[in-house]
Amino acid sequence: MHSVNEYTRCQSDRWKEESMKKISFIGLGVMGYPMAGHLKQAGYPVTVYNRTTAKAEQWAKEFGGEFALTPALAAAEADIVFSCVGNDDDLRQVMMGTEGVIHGLKAGAVVVDHTTASAEVARELDAELEKRGCQFLDAPVSGGQQGAINAALTVMVGGDDSVFQSIKPVIDTMARSVQLMGPVGSGQLCKMVNQVCIAGLVQGLAEGLHFAELAGLDGKKVVDVISKGAAQSWQMDNRHETMLAGEYEHGFAVDWMRKDLAIVLDEARKNGASLPVTALVDQFYGDVQALGGNRWDTSSLLARLKAREKS
Ligand code: NAP
Repeated sequence: MHSVNEYTRCQSDRWKEESMKKISFIGLGVMGYPMAGHLKQAGYPVTVYNRTTAKAEQWAKEFGGEFALTPALAAAEADIVFSCVGNDDDLRQVMMGTEGVIHGLKAGAVVVDHTTASAEVARELDAELEKRGCQFLDAPVSGGQQGAINAALTVMVGGDDSVFQSIKPVIDTMARSVQLMGPVGSGQLCKMVNQVCIAGLVQGLAEGLHFAELAGLDGKKVVDVISKGAAQSWQMDNRHETMLAGEYEHGFAVDWMRKDLAIVLDEARKNGASLPVTALVDQFYGDVQALGGNRWDTSSLLARLKAREKS
């Protein structure tokens, strides 16, 4: 039996949910699952869709939301549809496929996509949604699985300012930093810059640790010293221990990074940017895949150097 206080709280939660924007979340992967959970925990009524239904069922059980069997059904009542799937093709499928979001969406709804995808697919989706009286924000994220679990993501957004302002408080429930970068596609372009910066940096860190070992230095001691100076980085702080231990079964997968770098290099061919280091590191990640490291963390560039040391 519920106490009066519990009953009042249940009623007030129900009232809060009814008065809040209805949300749908498509794609409950490593990132989407906890992100959708934060939205539900913030009090929004959330309906999820996941291709593998068992995950959607598990999510609904854990967070108390609803799940639907197609993206269109999940989007039917929604004021905001969030998505976080794998790549451009996955996004086209969940949005514009035969059972895609656009077939269920009501006019006036906003779609916010957190997938790391191309700026081109963002503009394509925006144009499709505009025809239906809906709006679109591309909103890729940085911060990895831990950022998603801890609601500490960095979100880079492209789209209309007034749409952004109306949606930002909702995105804030999953994020530490949310920034509008410019028109639709700008969020994806900003995420590309993020990946360019990471690629060169991780290769530099791998080369540094490789050199330290062959020079007879204690890698841990080296990092203790140089991480207090100008060489410090997030990768150095968070990855040196596992790199030194040769552990890569965690973090951001090489396959995902190659997908992102393909998007970056394609965009660079269009805008004329010269990215020699990024192009080279992309090939190095190809070597890591050939070593069987498809799901290894991106810091596994050191494993590639070690494999060459032996051969
Ligand atoms: P993930 O764990 O592989 O999850 C992918 C999700 O998309 C799953 O829910 C999957 O459904 C769904 N999906 C894929 N293709 C689909 C399709 N054709 N139709 C319907 N659903 C489909 O990936 P993730 O790590 O969450 O990453 C998601 C996105 O965030 C990617 O673009 C990634 O680059 C980006 N990202 C990831 C990280 C990270 O650290 N993981 C960090 C920043 C950005 P199933 O469950 O049925 O497979």
